[in-house]
Amino acid sequence: MNTHNIVTSQRNFFKSHITLDIEYRKNALRKLKALLKSNERLMHDAIYEDFGKSEFDNYATELGILYKEINYYIDNIESLSAPKRVRTNLANLPGNSYIYQDPYGCTLVIGAWNYPYQLSLSPAIAAIAAGNTCVIKPSELPANTMKVMASLINENFPAEYLYVVTGGVEETTQLLQAKFDKIFFTGSTRVGKIVYEAAAKNLTPVTLELGGKSPVIIAKSANLEIAVKRIAWGKFLNSGQTCIAPDYILVEESVKEKFIALLIERIKASNYIDGAPHFTRIINKRNFDRLTNMIDASKVICGGNTNENTLYIEPTVMTDVSWNDKVMQEEIFGPLLPVISFKTFNEAIETIQEKDKPLSAYLFSHDANEKEEFTTKISFGGGCINDVIMHISNEHLPFGGVGNSGIGNYHGKYGFLCFSHQKSIFKKPTWGEPNLKYPPYNNSKLSWIKRLLG
Ligand code: NAD
Repeated sequence: MNTHNIVTSQRNFFKSHITLDIEYRKNALRKLKALLKSNERLMHDAIYEDFGKSEFDNYATELGILYKEINYYIDNIESLSAPKRVRTNLANLPGNSYIYQDPYGCTLVIGAWNYPYQLSLSPAIAAIAAGNTCVIKPSELPANTMKVMASLINENFPAEYLYVVTGGVEETTQLLQAKFDKIFFTGSTRVGKIVYEAAAKNLTPVTLELGGKSPVIIAKSANLEIAVKRIAWGKFLNSGQTCIAPDYILVEESVKEKFIALLIERIKASNYIDGAPHFTRIINKRNFDRLTNMIDASKVICGGNTNENTLYIEPTVMTDVSWNDKVMQEEIFGPLLPVISFKTFNEAIETIQEKDKPLSAYLFSHDANEKEEFTTKISFGGGCINDVIMHISNEHLPFGGVGNSGIGNYHGKYGFLCFSHQKSIFKKPTWGEPNLKYPPYNNSKLSWIKRLLG
């Protein structure tokens, strides 16, 4: 089906008002969940074939997240979609005021490759819950997962409601020329700008889930044993190919040596060897080359081994790194972990403040002032204190970036809001009609309006 036909048919379907029915949305979510459940083996084999993601990771970071989101919407869709009555101001009395959650209409979701199921289907689930139709364009890099999603969705849902478009840049470019009512994009800041520009031509609202360099601050009061355990897990999960993975470490000088020693011990104990079933491969040769090019052997204190045939890069820690090093010039998105030291906490805060606003930031500390400064003085999408990554797994927290790391957010209630227009409705009775607002005006009306509007 070509782009024009898909968009036209989804637009017409939306106009039929079928998706306004809450039961219709719930049934679609139930059907999607059953479909995913009954095809877990197929989905796992595809993602394993694409980049060696383990069954545990596939469940914990892809399918499990999708089930959680579906369950949340099935349980909460009535309250999320119910009109909310709000207070009415004095000048509008008598009357009642409401906010309606109005589905946008025909929406487009463009996914990134690193969590291919989650990043394409989780926004689509929110779009369905909010009563939209949805065109899904997964990333083409994990070709097998893209094909699985296309066959599961396209063979089981009407194209006028949900449809997966396969293909690469050319197909996405074509899609972006069509007029959608909402575009949800996950990917790089570079492509995010292309999407934003295309959306602007039609004044289409966008949510942009982008990337950036997410810092971790290790203060001297940190519990270093716990810090290294959590950081090593979060960094090397999916081989560092996670948008909110710790990108680099800022560690207070006095605890640097101990932190690095514990980190190396932790990495060794995790057994991230070539071929380890729990260690994902790099997605392709282009990214493998990009990453190996960032490794400065003279600064490697742990790891550094690579295998071009298996697209393996060993977890690699680099020390005495400066902002001029290649590894600090762009988001790493791989298993390289540069460590930079600082003398005062304020220096760490200022370092982060000078850079583009990151998608995430993390602090390990037991000092209340440092926690407060970290939370309030730096701008970033979201983050954790004494943990990494886990904020994304709480559906009660909005997930998204700020500045260069994105626009808007989703998950749980926020996903529903993201795919809904908040439509204000003021309901007025026909009895009682003060003459105040109607001309001709006089001094008495003027003094009343001044009193009413302060
Ligand atoms: P990408 O920007 O290269 O690709 C994302 C999507 O855009 C893909 O579907 C791709 O087909 C499409 N695309 C690529 N080039 C295009 C073009 N010229 N015109 C139109 N569409 C185009 O990103 P990626 O490599 O898939 O993902 C990595 C990036 O995504 C990293 O920066 C990472 O931090 C970010 N990311 C962010 C989140 C988040 O939730 N904020 C999640 C995952 C990844």
